[in-house]
Amino acid sequence: MQDRVYNFSAGPAVLPLPVLKKAQEELLCLPGAGCSVLEVSHRSKQFEAVIGTAESNLRKLFNVPENYRVMFLQGGALLQFAMIPMNILGGQSADYFVTGTWSKTALGEAKTQGSINTIWDGSETKFNRNPKTGEFSVHPGAAYCYMTSNETIQGVQWQSLPEIGNVPLVCDASSDIFCKPVDISKFGVYFACAQKNAGPAGVTVVIMRDDLVEKSPANLPKMLNYKMLAEGKSMVNTPPCFAVYMLKLVTEWLLDDVGGLDKMYERNVEKAQLLYDAIDHSGGFYRGHAVKEDRSIMNVPFVLSNDDLTKKFLEEAKSHKLTQLSGHRSVGGCRASIYNAMPRDGVLALRDFMLDFAKHNG
Ligand SMILES: *Cc1c(COP(=O)(O)O)cnc(C)c1O
Repeated sequence: MQDRVYNFSAGPAVLPLPVLKKAQEELLCLPGAGCSVLEVSHRSKQFEAVIGTAESNLRKLFNVPENYRVMFLQGGALLQFAMIPMNILGGQSADYFVTGTWSKTALGEAKTQGSINTIWDGSETKFNRNPKTGEFSVHPGAAYCYMTSNETIQGVQWQSLPEIGNVPLVCDASSDIFCKPVDISKFGVYFACAQKNAGPAGVTVVIMRDDLVEKSPANLPKMLNYKMLAEGKSMVNTPPCFAVYMLKLVTEWLLDDVGGLDKMYERNVEKAQLLYDAIDHSGGFYRGHAVKEDRSIMNVPFVLSNDDLTKKFLEEAKSHKLTQLSGHRSVGGCRASIYNAMPRDGVLALRDFMLDFAKHNG
């Protein structure tokens, strides 16, 4: 325990300590199962209870409407980039907001499946902002419109949803699922890999409206076919049992310890503000990447004036048990990922270190 650091990794990322402790406590014997969740059949009633509770907790947290299916899939968010167009493009075209590295990757994958339009691209300003109303228009006949709610690498987050009329909105929420309340009825598809803000690597949550689930072409292989995966209750084959179990524990933590997504959001806003204030009041010693209006409350990328100083910052941070703070290789600098599970004390420790480092090196 003394060796545990404050881990600012972008993903896989910090998990809530009570969740890890619970998993440790139940690792040898899942209550009622007589063996570990790692050892029990996925068809057993004990595992059915695990996956059932994960789903009902998730439905409770988001108030998911009845006409949406919840699936726990494999292949990460990246497989969803391809499965979405495979299943719901239906010979039409789709519109993409390219707001950072992840939506750009999603665009590339979608283009392997059909006709895809970029309706806004932020690359000219290095993806430091999201579009405003009036800067894009959605094709009325589009099969769907695609967005990334939080660009993990650039630290740019949508503060409100784009106006897109009746076209179904598809959202990659991999790095900000559960960070705040979300109205699922505004989306056709809302998906997230777990390893940033919802659990460990290995499971991806897909919440999809019934009419879109019905669009899956019958000739798609089972494992790529939402209709079959939904009908099979995410158990067409063996699901990632342990990852689903961990996700169940995270949803329990959100409901019982945190007290729901409103409370989680309050905590997240306060934590993010601590870091952004330190950046804004540093007299330019630290510079953030995103414009203020679109700043992420999950990933805080920032740069120092040169590479040597950045290196020194990262090394000294490590000696204060503040780790995994280097920025993504594509943008450089530093990045503090402060997901739900990052305690306020960890953010405070980083904030204090940043102030101190600036004082001694500015
Ligand atoms: C991490 C991430 C992904 C990729 O997730 P994988 O599970 O590794 O495929 C996609 N989108 C966003 C926004 C991410 O943060």
